Amino acid sequence: MAGLSKRILSLVRDDVAALSPYDPNFTPCKINLSANENTYGMPPKVRAAIDAAIAATPTNRYPDPMSNELRDQIATWHHVRRENVCVGNGGDELLFNFFLAFGGPGKRLVDCPPTFTVYDIYSKMLGTSVVRCWRDEETFDIDVNALLLMARKADMVIVTSPNNPTGNVMAPEDVARLCETCPGIVLVDEAYIEFADGGCSCEGLLADYDNLVILHTYSKAFCLAGVRVGYVLAASDVIDVLGAVRQPYTADVFAQAAAQAVTSLRGVFTPTINRIRSERARLAEALSGLEGMQVWPSQGNFLLARMPEAAIVRARLRDERSILVRDFSSTQGLENCLRITVGTPEENDELVAAIGSILREVV
Ligand code: PMP
Repeated sequence: MAGLSKRILSLVRDDVAALSPYDPNFTPCKINLSANENTYGMPPKVRAAIDAAIAATPTNRYPDPMSNELRDQIATWHHVRRENVCVGNGGDELLFNFFLAFGGPGKRLVDCPPTFTVYDIYSKMLGTSVVRCWRDEETFDIDVNALLLMARKADMVIVTSPNNPTGNVMAPEDVARLCETCPGIVLVDEAYIEFADGGCSCEGLLADYDNLVILHTYSKAFCLAGVRVGYVLAASDVIDVLGAVRQPYTADVFAQAAAQAVTSLRGVFTPTINRIRSERARLAEALSGLEGMQVWPSQGNFLLARMPEAAIVRARLRDERSILVRDFSSTQGLENCLRITVGTPEENDELVAAIGSILREVV
């Protein structure tokens, strides 16, 4: 996608002029392992329930603005109250609302790059200053003491766990220390938490810390990336302010119906989630066996891999094999890195064979 035109640059304020349109670099392809979706697809039983729910949903009335039925289901699921849940049009919108509420001129965010770039985009858009606590260059772990020091003066801290694109998790004990230290709000982005080992979620801390916000999404484990539903869990006064800044009808009637059907049947996703976790281990091992390849351990449904000539490998995978992965080679700290979504066994086998043969030619 092109940057902003000269004409537009002359018309907008400086914050906006500094932005470039978000570009997931998507091109149609046979095997798409670029966006960390669930490539196994919606389980047929859940799809049937969604279809029935949508068929029974009238469209002439506005949606329930707060998605209260869905909120109640989510509240029961996570052992909180309706007042502790806010539903949004995907996690992205909830992050935007988080910045609208707690960011802006004079406010300071601390985040831990390399991480999800949307935080940077929203910071710029809303004039929030950013202090970066860079992850270790080798392991991508967070230096918790350095983060705690920075958090003392932060209005907002975002920790991504599992982190996109590196796959690391932050221990709930460390998040607890962060909540104690930070005078502002701590958001733990758990978009990929369903793929992580048990005990990694910070949900259990909500009862103790009223400055903790947890973000979850239906886009990854629950196969609703195309529908756009996410939610946050937090203290009721945090939910109130998120409710105050949000646009009223962003979760439409179909999205609410689909998310309700998925929530009722969420147990059906467990075998696929387990499959993705075991494929993640198999794919990591197969990739690690390739000459010159480094693969990091990951708790998400993706792997970060460093290899010689990564940008060329990515372009050749796309152009010659119709396989799409995400190129991070020009991101600071991620030189020569690609992010690969864990696919089905067949997709993973085809990817490993393709990368192997391209690497033999380019190295
Ligand atoms: N957080 C992280 C770390 C992500 O990777 C994503 C999706 N790429 C999101 C939040 C938002 O996902 P969605 O808007 O699809 O819920």
